[in-house]
Amino acid sequence: MRVCVIGTGYVGLVTGTCLAHIGHHVICVDNNEEKVKLMKSGQSPIFEPGLSELMSSASQSGNLEFTSDLAAGVAHGEILFIAVGTPPLPTGESDTRYVEAVARGIGAHLDGDYKVIVNKSTVPIGSGDWVRRIVLDGLAERQKAQSGEGATGEEVAAKIGADFDVVSNPEFLREGCAVFDTFNPDRIVLGSNSQRAMDLMLQLYTPIVDRKFAENPSLPVVPVVMTDISSAEMIKYAANAFLATKISFINEVANICDRVGADVTQVAKGIGLDSRIGSKFLQAGIGWGGSCFPKDVSALVHTADDYGYEAHLLKAAVEVNERQRSIAIEKLQQVLKILKGKTIGLLGLTFKPDTDDLRDAPSLNLIENLNRLGAKVKAYDPIVSQTGMRHGLSGVLVETDAERLADGCDALVLVTDWEQFRNLDYDKMGKLMAHAVMIDGRNFLDKKVLEAAGFQYVGIGR
Ligand code: NAD
Repeated sequence: MRVCVIGTGYVGLVTGTCLAHIGHHVICVDNNEEKVKLMKSGQSPIFEPGLSELMSSASQSGNLEFTSDLAAGVAHGEILFIAVGTPPLPTGESDTRYVEAVARGIGAHLDGDYKVIVNKSTVPIGSGDWVRRIVLDGLAERQKAQSGEGATGEEVAAKIGADFDVVSNPEFLREGCAVFDTFNPDRIVLGSNSQRAMDLMLQLYTPIVDRKFAENPSLPVVPVVMTDISSAEMIKYAANAFLATKISFINEVANICDRVGADVTQVAKGIGLDSRIGSKFLQAGIGWGGSCFPKDVSALVHTADDYGYEAHLLKAAVEVNERQRSIAIEKLQQVLKILKGKTIGLLGLTFKPDTDDLRDAPSLNLIENLNRLGAKVKAYDPIVSQTGMRHGLSGVLVETDAERLADGCDALVLVTDWEQFRNLDYDKMGKLMAHAVMIDGRNFLDKKVLEAAGFQYVGIGR
C-alpha cells in the first residue's frame, strides 16, 4: 500500500521504516531539512536499536523514501500518518500546533483520491473531529487562494471529489525497543466511524497482525481493538496514566519501606507474582520521566478539569513523582551531609536505557538541584557521551567513560539502568573516588558486588 508518514521522530521514523520493511511503499515527510538530509544519506537522526539497519534495507529496496515536500507525500499516500510531536504546554495541555499545521497542509494538498488520515500522535480526546475540520479548512483556504472562491471545505471537497476519513491509531511503542514493539505489539487500536477506513487500516497491518515479522510467529494473532475515535484516543492516555500511576504506587511503597526497614524489591516481587497485579512497572526508583508519561498524565488531568472533573488519583501520581525526583538528593544529603563543593557523578542521563532521548529525564532535575546546592556535577551516559548529543545540557561535565566519571567524585548516582552499568569495574572506580558512595536510583546494581568493591551502597526503599 502507499503510505505517507509525516513527522520522522521516534514514532514516525520507526513506523515508516517498519511499514516499508513489511512491504508497503512509504514516503516519510519532515519539515526539518537537516533531518531529511541525514535520513536520505542513510543515517538515522535518533538512536534506536535495529532502526538504522532496517532503514538502509528498506531504502535500498525502494520502499522507503524521505522528503520535506508535504505535497509529494500527500499525493503519494492512500494512508497519511500524522506523527508529529505534541509536547506539553506550561498549563499541562498538549501543544497541538504541529498536528494542526500538518492537518492544514494535508488539506491544502488533497486531490480527488480517497485518503485515510491517521492520528498516530498522542492527541487530546476529541482531536479526530478537530483534525477533520482543519483538513477541510486547509482545503477551503487553498481554493480561496487559487480562485478567490469563498466556499466551505465541504463544498470544495464535494466539487473536486476529495474524500477522506480520520482514524485514531495511538502508538504504544517504547523507546529503546521501538522496532521490536512495532513488529510484536500487544494490541493495535483503531478508532473510526468509517468502515472503509477501518478496512484499509486492517489491510495495512495484516502482516503485523498475523505475526509475519514477529519474534515468535506462532503466537495467536495480535488483538485489534476497533472502536470509536474518542475511545481510541482515551485508550492511549489511560494506558500511560495507569503505568505512571503504577510506578508512583511502588515509589510510595518504597518510601514507606525505607522508614520501616522493609526491602521494596522483595515487596515488589511478592506482590508482582499476584497475576492480578503483575510484576512489570513495579521497580522503585527516582521517578518516571521521558517525553510521554509526564505530558500524557498532565494532559489527561487537564482534560478532566475541562470537563468539570478533578482527577485526584492522577494528580496524586504526579505529586508522588515530583517528590520522588528529589529522593536522590535526600539520600546524598543523608550520606554526605553538605553537598556544596562536593562532586557528584551521574551514571546515565537518558530517561531510560537504549535511547538517546533526554526529554523530561529525571537526570535534568538532578543536575539542576545539585547545581543549586553548590555541587559540581559530572555524568557518563553510553549514548549521550558518545554521540555528542549534549546540546541543551548545562551544569554538567559529560565524561567519555565511567572511570573518568568516578575520578574524584564524592558519590555516584545511578540514574539510568543501562545494562552495561552492571559490569563496570567498580573496584577500580571506587579507588578513584574521594568517597566510594553509590546511590542506586533504580535499585539496579548488586549491593553485594558494590559493597565488596568498598562502596557504601544506598538503594531506594531497601
Ligand atoms: P519527535 O519530537 O521525536 O518527532 C516529531 C517530528 O515531527 C520531528 O522530526 C519534527 O521535525 C517533525 N515535525 C514537526 N512539525 C512538522 C511538520 N509541520 N511537518 C513535518 N514534520 C514535522 O516526537 P515523537 O517522540 O516521535 O512523538 C510523536 C508523537 O507520538 C507524540 O504525540 C508523542 O506523544 C507520541 N508518542 C511518542 C512515543 C515515544 O516513545 N516517543 C510513544 C508513543 C506515542
